[in-house]
Amino acid sequence: MGEFSLALHGGAGTITRSLMTAEKENAYTSGLADALEAGRNILAAGGSALDAVEKVVCILEDNPLFNAGKGAVFTHDGSHEMDACIMRGDSLAAGAVAGVHSVRNPVSLARAVMEKSEHVLLAGAGAEAFANACGMKSEPPEYFFSEFRYNQFQQALRDDVVQLDHTERKFGTVGAVARDIHGMLAAATSTGGMTNKRWGRIGDSPIVGAGNYANNESCAVSCTGHGEYFIRAVVAYDLACLIQYKGLTLQEACRVLVHDKLVKFGGEGGLVAVDANGNIEMPFNSEGMYRACIRSGEEAIVRIYRE
Ligand code: ASP
Repeated sequence: MGEFSLALHGGAGTITRSLMTAEKENAYTSGLADALEAGRNILAAGGSALDAVEKVVCILEDNPLFNAGKGAVFTHDGSHEMDACIMRGDSLAAGAVAGVHSVRNPVSLARAVMEKSEHVLLAGAGAEAFANACGMKSEPPEYFFSEFRYNQFQQALRDDVVQLDHTERKFGTVGAVARDIHGMLAAATSTGGMTNKRWGRIGDSPIVGAGNYANNESCAVSCTGHGEYFIRAVVAYDLACLIQYKGLTLQEACRVLVHDKLVKFGGEGGLVAVDANGNIEMPFNSEGMYRACIRSGEEAIVRIYRE
């Protein structure tokens, strides 16, 4: 039996001790730890990487602290438009949804697109209709309302800015990557996108190869950051290519991409990744990133700030 590895993130950005209260820090830490534990249980029991990343992301989507599912940020017209993607590294099968507003767990809808449709990416009203046809759980607009997000939205409207989550510069997507004991890799990512976004803006999260990618030959990766830059830099696929075609280790590839290429390009954010050998990296070029990881037989690591 092989070993398993699991890593997750809850967004990156200006996350510093001085902007945090002890109470908030505890809430974020336990939110990350709970999600990690649920994924670990699946992997430790011999479950698949795909089931583990879906479960982890569902738990983070259900937690209002994170900008995905229940905690999704407000769009310019006061609604929510969520994006998600899931991918398996053995067959390169992938599913994604963009601009859905009532689905409780967009990552599960993305999985349904992968497994129950002949398509990869469904958007807007069509994606909602597909969700109904699949019997996915939906929620009324109130479910996605939180006072904190609403105030954030009102401020963004006043300032006339399209803002990444968590005022200042903070990105709030959630994601998970895993290698199961059978050697399969999988990645999942889910987001509410940017506060005050309009015109059907879609970020990198639901785009295969930009915000999410998995390939057993290289790595599984889930990104968080300024989506426009991550799309143009094709970040997730580039990371896999640096490993598969250039022979870099996961650690070297992460350094080149996140601390060199993306910095020069102006792309703020980070990612979590696991390679075919179960190595984990969680690099970011912002002040902090909500993140956690665990490998079989090792202690869980849960972190928020730069070390
Ligand atoms: N990457 C996401 C987007 O641009 C935002 C985030 O990571 O918070 O939609």
